[in-house]
Amino acid sequence: MTSTNAQLFERAQRVIPGGVNSPVRAFRAVGGTPRFIARAQGPYIFDAEGTRYIDYIGSWGPMILGHGHPAVLEAVQKAALDGFSFGAPTEREIELAEEILKLVPSMDQVRLVSSGTEAAMSALRLARGATGRNKIVKFEGCYHGHADALLVKAGSGLATFGNPTSAGVPEDVVKHTVVLEYNHLGQLEEAFALHAADMACVMIEPICGNMNFVRASVPFMSRLRELCTQHGVLLVFDEVMTGFRVALGGAQSVYAKLIPGFAPDVSVFGKVIGGGMPLAAFGGRRAVMEQLAPLGPVYQAGTLSGNPVATACGLATLREIQKPGFFEALTASTRQLVEGFDAAAREAGVPMVTDSEGGMFGFFFASQLPQQYTQVLATDKARFNHFFHAMLDRGVYLAPALYEAGFVSAAHRPDDLAATIEAARQSLKLAL
Ligand SMILES: *Cc1c(COP(=O)(O)O)cnc(C)c1O
Repeated sequence: MTSTNAQLFERAQRVIPGGVNSPVRAFRAVGGTPRFIARAQGPYIFDAEGTRYIDYIGSWGPMILGHGHPAVLEAVQKAALDGFSFGAPTEREIELAEEILKLVPSMDQVRLVSSGTEAAMSALRLARGATGRNKIVKFEGCYHGHADALLVKAGSGLATFGNPTSAGVPEDVVKHTVVLEYNHLGQLEEAFALHAADMACVMIEPICGNMNFVRASVPFMSRLRELCTQHGVLLVFDEVMTGFRVALGGAQSVYAKLIPGFAPDVSVFGKVIGGGMPLAAFGGRRAVMEQLAPLGPVYQAGTLSGNPVATACGLATLREIQKPGFFEALTASTRQLVEGFDAAAREAGVPMVTDSEGGMFGFFFASQLPQQYTQVLATDKARFNHFFHAMLDRGVYLAPALYEAGFVSAAHRPDDLAATIEAARQSLKLAL
């Protein structure tokens, strides 16, 4: 008999390309049938067959409180009764902006948009508009959403520019994008030596969650900041994933503890700030942000930007995560999980390395933590896929690709973590 998930997948493929509205959901990297989710509660998601999974994706990060948190539900229900969308300003947008700025001192102003892609794309336009320069630098393995100029992989050398990673992106559109290896100081120096005068910004995922979990090293970040300051290049932190997730103040607060006086010039947020609703933001110092329309020449707009229901959801989420002890507890849970994975791997004699910060974690089947994308690609993919399916069979839902980070929520209780670690012990021991 065909399972309900398989039937739904077949039906979906008839009307939706690949059966999904975002590619990684299709399970193509790991094989098998995607689970169609019917509902979620706390740390669990339930598929169309009623099977329960402990959820370590959390909608790819937003569900930091777990699913269906009572305070968030109440805020959303109340907001919905007052109206879905007005296309006119609301007080709640000010409240959310104030809340974000209180937590991220590198920004004086923030603009709300509806997706991380939109926020990163707008930050890029702002950086170009504010500096009057065209070139941008990004790093291989970092994902900043699917705006044309950012869908780029490294070209043949630093003197040349990147190549589109998607059909439909003209080479002309990416000819200003320079792609460098993550954590590669020599390439960074060389790129600045060649292009600094034309560079508008360097965009980086400070702790990269789109190649599983790779941190920018402190010497690398510190030199990047120096070079940007020296040459008037804006340092753009894409914190769509790390913002309000690795710490209350995001990855920039983690680096500020390690590098005296550290701050990015522009920051991009998404995921957690919407608490599961379509909401994202970008912000920076007043002088830069005032370049935006209606004050300045950089155009940016959105019919649903600052949506009243989404802002209610985000605001309620941000208020919960500021409660005393929240991040300490989330950090401890996440550490407990990865330490459990470490111990299970040692016991099974499987080479595995893990890392975590706040409520975000990564694991690799390798003997050393990768520092850049090529090293991520060199980790054991077959073993990852095997582990993914063994865990799924045991009711643990991990990201279905080795390029993705994992997320723990405040709703994950000690028994959920223990059950996950036990599933990992069994899964790692299976013949691989
Ligand atoms: C998810 C993500 C984006 C894109 O956000 P969407 O809301 O999916 O458009 C951009 N940057 C980073 C670092 C992300 O993790």
